Amino acid sequence: MTSPAGERSRPLRCAIYTRKSTTEGLDSDFNTLDAQRDGCQHYIQSQAQTGWTVVDRRYDDGGFTGSNLDRPALQRLLEDIDRGEVDVVVVYKVDRLSRSLLDFARLMERFERREVGFVSISQHFDTSTSMGRLMLNVLLSFAQFERELIAERTRDKIQAARRRGKWTGGPPVLGYAVDPLKHRLRVIDEEAKVVRVVFELYLRTRSIDAVAEELRRRRLKQKRYKTRKGLRRGGGEWTRNAVYTLLRNPLYVGKVRGQGGALHQGEHGAILEEATFAAAAVSLDARTTGRTRQRRSDEYALARILRCAPCDAPMAPCSVKGRNGRRYRYYRCRGHQQHAERCPTGLVAADALETAVAAQVTGSAGPEAPTDSNTAPASRRKTAMQPALNGLIGAWTTLAAPERCRLLRSLVREVRVEKGRLRIALQDLPANKGRAAEPTATRA
Ligand SMILES: [Zn+2]
Repeated sequence: MTSPAGERSRPLRCAIYTRKSTTEGLDSDFNTLDAQRDGCQHYIQSQAQTGWTVVDRRYDDGGFTGSNLDRPALQRLLEDIDRGEVDVVVVYKVDRLSRSLLDFARLMERFERREVGFVSISQHFDTSTSMGRLMLNVLLSFAQFERELIAERTRDKIQAARRRGKWTGGPPVLGYAVDPLKHRLRVIDEEAKVVRVVFELYLRTRSIDAVAEELRRRRLKQKRYKTRKGLRRGGGEWTRNAVYTLLRNPLYVGKVRGQGGALHQGEHGAILEEATFAAAAVSLDARTTGRTRQRRSDEYALARILRCAPCDAPMAPCSVKGRNGRRYRYYRCRGHQQHAERCPTGLVAADALETAVAAQVTGSAGPEAPTDSNTAPASRRKTAMQPALNGLIGAWTTLAAPERCRLLRSLVREVRVEKGRLRIALQDLPANKGRAAEPTATRA
């Protein structure tokens, strides 16, 4: 108990929420609603000197699954929270509140808005402590991942429509009008002429910049259209990006782009000859595209947060193709190219570095590990976070690259490489806020 008693004028009203589904077995000691309630009550009593009191109303959901929020007592609890009648929600285990990470994240966001604390008594999960906040951050970053999965499923449906050659919407494209009834594209001859001009210019100059400049000189404008609400949009000057996007659009040869860039025969008419489009594509392929950069930030967890300390320069992702065709990932010091004699870092293998950072953040680096964090604030915080982070390193190796990136970035602000050592600055934890955050609960 770190916060002195008597500091607060008002008691903290704690609501106990219990749940049991009909399918849950009898193997658990705390399977009954009464037993869960007893445990929570006991815990709240142990916090009595910091002003915790139990509210009289009971929130017990007997025979309800935790996989959705369709539960009468939970709904009542949420209403009471909205009315400002609850300061802390206490449960026996996190899964009593929800078994869905997404629902859990939503509930946490809702509690947060009302400045309501959340305590799971058997799991040391208390959002009024910094460790609890960190755990919450980790959980929320996974919930975000789940949200993206759902978005992906929606994308899958769109992909299926595209495979059948359907126009699936998006901003209007120069050369076509969208038939609002049939949801199909119709060629606009006037605009189709401009499209052909863009391709001709590019094949003649082989320079996107030159094309954009020439289009501006001829006072040609980008696609002009009306939104569904009747607002006028588009009609801007030609830019490099706009020219590039147009040159890459397979709609012009009557195709629809599907998953992974696969092309499907569309329902609409073509504006260009296949040969013209292909010639432009070959020329564009020879250049570096924006697409590779996008993929990189997903693949390199330390992109943009890694620096070479002696050079005080950023370290950029790069890869090298081996003789066997395998790709090896590296981070390269940007300063190294200019003054190689001064930079001791140069090129560092990405896998080893990322794993070392993850290991160090989670505190599981063995004594043999070539890394060491000496920055005082980081190591002090590391100790505080330790229990929450244990086990994360085990999960690390099983995570896919984008998940690793998300997790590492949610925890780490900057990594500096110095003489083979890593100095890691962690993200600032969100500050504790609100009345419910005041008492720092330790388990009795
Ligand atoms: Zn360097």
